[in-house]
Formats: sequence, structure tokens, C-alpha cells
Amino acid sequence: MKNFDIDKVRADFPLLKREVNGKPLVYLDNGATTQKPKVVIDAITGYYTDINSNVHRGVHYLSQISTDAFEVTRRKLRDFIHAKEDYEIIITKGTTDSINLVAQCYGKAFIQEGDEIVISAMEHHSNIVPWQMLCDEKGAVLRVIPMDKAGVLDQAVYAELLSAKTKIVAITYVSNALGTINPIKEMIQLAHQHGVPVLVDAAQAIQHMQLDVQDLDVDFLVFSGHKMYGPTGVGVLYGKEKWLNAMPPYQGGGDMIKDVTFAKTTYNELPFKFEAGTPNIEAGICLAAAIDYINDIGLDEIKAHEDALLAYATEKLNAIQGVRVIGTAAQKSSVLSFVVDGVHPYDIGVLLDKLGIAVRTGHHCAQPIMDQFEIPGTVRASLAMYNTKADIDTFIAGLNRALTMLL
Ligand code: PMP
Repeated sequence: MKNFDIDKVRADFPLLKREVNGKPLVYLDNGATTQKPKVVIDAITGYYTDINSNVHRGVHYLSQISTDAFEVTRRKLRDFIHAKEDYEIIITKGTTDSINLVAQCYGKAFIQEGDEIVISAMEHHSNIVPWQMLCDEKGAVLRVIPMDKAGVLDQAVYAELLSAKTKIVAITYVSNALGTINPIKEMIQLAHQHGVPVLVDAAQAIQHMQLDVQDLDVDFLVFSGHKMYGPTGVGVLYGKEKWLNAMPPYQGGGDMIKDVTFAKTTYNELPFKFEAGTPNIEAGICLAAAIDYINDIGLDEIKAHEDALLAYATEKLNAIQGVRVIGTAAQKSSVLSFVVDGVHPYDIGVLLDKLGIAVRTGHHCAQPIMDQFEIPGTVRASLAMYNTKADIDTFIAGLNRALTMLL
């Protein structure tokens, strides 16, 4: 692989060098958040050391520098997801914030009593609850695309669910709990045949594969900075201009206005209409360093590396007696969820932690998935570009050791 030097990549992430419980850290909780390369950490220090000041407000030198830097991130985000315009990129607090924004604002403009909102059986709570809240408020109905035992959405039922009553579809690109990659391009095309816009939750896709919002023809796309090697507290809502213009603002406050009098307020243009108040300036500016870092290595290289690791880990895991992988779709990305008959996932997580191996256990904010599989939760190992075969070997050895103690 052209630019992919795993030793160099690992050396770029200071935290990977630390020990946990006296053992070298094996970090396999990347679905929850990724570690940060030194360039991002340096950018954060640099921001506070050199340019800290508020954006879009001052005429003074520092404020102009920070405003320019914030807008550089917006342009880099536009290029990263191949959006048409900078102002289609709304900078938010993260995926959850972005979905709530769309549910509230699209909901206000377009959802009425009896309308239907289609989501899928494998959504993260943040792509379920905002829609449920909207349904409660408006008397609308939530419809759910079912999935099979492998964790694959039923496309025939999806086609049947779409009707004149459907006002929006909200689906995840990659499931955080199962790893399934959904065929979102086809799903978007189908929704569009019914004139229905689609929101795609790309929280688990943006760091693993190339995304092109114009090619996908997606109406809204959301993701978080902290899962793509960037700072916490910043995220993105991409929206097609026509939808963003047709929606009322989210929150009221500074920056989102053009003119305020006690009689009437006029709202600012995109993207500021949706960016009330002081944003997370530091995170917004420093997300640019994460984008540059990913671009320097290349998403195709990252994907090839992670896919090979996923295949390797899946094979090793399947060889352990009693292990049942949850999520066995043919198209998967970077997530390995599993249960072991007779053992609670939490106990496995605790024993792995003692060995310095960080995995996640529980329902992964996707309780309906656990209900469907009739399990309390899973153990989830999730991969990033800096993971290695050696990480997987340590994890598998640790799992075997934990299971001899627990079984
Ligand atoms: N959707 C998916 C698929 C996720 O994995 C996550 C994070 N686990 C979210 C949404 C929510 O992201 P955040 O907590 O960064 O808002």
C-alpha cells in the first residue's frame, strides 16, 4: 500500500504508547471514539497558544485568523465529502446534535399528523429517539425496516414501507453494533422515487471509507469529529441547499441572525442560520488537522488495512468454541460484536481490561438490536487504522484466557 506504513501510523498516536493495568494498551474501542494523532493534539495546543479568539465577531487580527481557520475546516469538510457548496456544511456538536437539528427543523417544516418516518432496526439511539420525540409531538408514525439474523436490512419490506405518507427516511450507513454496511445508494434512490428525502448517519462510515454526497445524492449526512481522529464536541450536518433553505432555524442566538429588533428578527444565510452562539471553536478549527491526516494516508489505504484486519479477526474469533458473532452480513466494516454462550459480556470486558485490552460491552446504544437477538448485549471490538494483527492476536489470547476463567 502506497502511503500506509503501520509503524509510522502508530508512532503518530501518542496515547497508543501508554500502558493500562501494567500491560501495553490494545485499544479496540474505536467505534466509541478514536485516539488522536499528534498533529491534532498539536493543533489544539497551537490554537490556545497562538490564536484563541471568537469567530465571526471581531474586526481584530486574532478574530480574523480564528474565523478564517474555522472556515478552512468547513471547506476541507466540503471537499472531504464532495459537497457542492461550503454553506451546505453546518458545523454542529456531533452526530446526535445534527440528527436532532434535522428532526426538529425538518419536522417543523414538513411533518404533520399521520405522516410517516422510516428508520431501520439497526439504528443507534440517536437516530431513533429524536424521531420518536418528533412523532410524539406531531402525531406522526415511526416505521421500522426490519433486519434478518445476519444483520441485513430487508429491502423488500423497505420498498413496501415507502408510501405517500412517508416524509423522511433516516438510516445508518454502518451499524455501530453489527458492522453491517447498508446499501444506502440504492436505498436513497428508492426513497427518491417516492419523493422522500434521506438522512444518512455516517458516524461509523466517515473514518473508514470514501463518501461522496453528490454521488450518493443523499439529502442529509451526519457525523462526529471525535470518531474520525479529531476533537470531541464538533460534528457535521451536511444538507442539500434546498432542504436547509426550506427549514426554519434550530436555536436562536448570536450569529444566526441578520437583524434583530423587538418587533422582528431576520435570520442569517446558510450555514450561519443553523449555527447559533459561539461554536466549539477549538474543535472546529482543529478538525482540519484530522482531515488532513486522513487524506495524507488515504481512505482507500485505511479501508484496505481495516478490511484485512476484520477478516483476520473474524476468522480467529470464529475458531473459538462457544463464540457467536452478532452481525454476519457479507458487507461489514471494522466492527466485531460477539457473545459467548453462558458468559455475560460485561465479565469478558472486565477481564480483558485487566490485560490492557479496551473493548466495549453492553447494548452500544442500540437496545432494539439486542432485543431482536435476545441478548443483554455484546462484546464489541472495533477497529481503527492504527490497529495491527498483533493487537488482534493479543485480544484473542486475552479472550481465550478470560474464557478459561469464566467457563
Ligand atoms: N450513530 C452511530 C452509528 C454511532 O455509532 C454514534 C456514536 N456511537 C452516534 C450515532 C452518536 O454519535 P455522537 O455520540 O458522537 O453524537
